[in-house]
Amino acid sequence: MPIPVTLTQTPKQKPAPGQALPFGRLFTDHMLLMDYSRKQGWHSLRVVPYGDFTLPPSAMVFHYAQEVFEGMKAYAAPGGLTLFRPMENLKRMNASCRRLCIPEMPLDEVYEGLLALLKLEKDWVPADPGTSLYIRPTVIATEAALGVKASDTYLFFVILSPVGAYYASGFNPLKIVVEEAYTRAAPGGTGSVKCGGNYGGSILASYLAHEKGFDQVLWLDAAQRRYVEEVSSMNIFFVINGQLVTPGLGDTILPGITRDAILKLAGVLGIPAQERRVSLEEIVAAQASGALQEAFGAGTAAVVAPIGSLTVDGKALTIGNGATGPITKKLHDTLTGIQRGNQPDPLGWVVKVI
Ligand SMILES: *Cc1c(COP(=O)(O)O)cnc(C)c1O
Repeated sequence: MPIPVTLTQTPKQKPAPGQALPFGRLFTDHMLLMDYSRKQGWHSLRVVPYGDFTLPPSAMVFHYAQEVFEGMKAYAAPGGLTLFRPMENLKRMNASCRRLCIPEMPLDEVYEGLLALLKLEKDWVPADPGTSLYIRPTVIATEAALGVKASDTYLFFVILSPVGAYYASGFNPLKIVVEEAYTRAAPGGTGSVKCGGNYGGSILASYLAHEKGFDQVLWLDAAQRRYVEEVSSMNIFFVINGQLVTPGLGDTILPGITRDAILKLAGVLGIPAQERRVSLEEIVAAQASGALQEAFGAGTAAVVAPIGSLTVDGKALTIGNGATGPITKKLHDTLTGIQRGNQPDPLGWVVKVI
């Protein structure tokens, strides 16, 4: 079935080549919508002009944060427009829905809708080096009721935002501080799914870290404050004695698609990789002995973000020589090369939209 499209009557000016694109401030002309009701299920997938929603103040999303989202990117590849492992994001969105008691979405239909939206908005995909079109699928609970329960109605939407190069001014290794007061995700909680509530609760820690001159926080496990989990909203990797190490997944770590891609790519590149528990103690000892060679964050926004220093108990530990390490750079360059179609795609990750 063709997806109904209502075209905007007031198209916006698209950004000019070379224009600065602050993250997530500028949106394209159209968005994808779909509704859910108990009676009809998910229905009325459609493309409409980008615009405001009208919701009652009693809409459940405003009160109990029954909301999930995704973050992915489309790239202007040579001769077309591509996505990177898009079904992984959609499957993860359904996993988030299950955890938040939101009815799962029909992913084939959602995918067709996403492709239709991207084809319509193709001229919004920026082409400057390092730029992309950020894609934000979101589901919100819309029932007008204040009882704490699963909503009977939902709205799904996808909005698109042209974004600039993450490293416009070059690789700047991050200054990270171990978060000692707050935690992000408790066992049995929602840390392994992408829901807005996880972020609302993490802002204070980031804010306080920024005030002290740090870029981001390193989250430890909530139960023992002993094991390394994530860095801000990215997965974390270390290079210890030439081996790539990342914390194993569980219910407190978000299963990043970038994380998964890096682990698989390490296999292709012949870099030994391990998923296992990593204690802060181990990292401090490895730094002291010189075994800790590199560290980086991994996520869709930055892809790979080198970490230059880690502050533990008020003491700044330099990682490697404080600059971007060779394995970090190799993984960054290879993965972004695959995503942007400048390198062969050995694992079949790239999907052509047009
Ligand atoms: C989205 C997210 C990541 C990264 O996931 P990607 O799929 O690689 O973008 C990591 N940690 C948290 C907490 C996240 O929300």
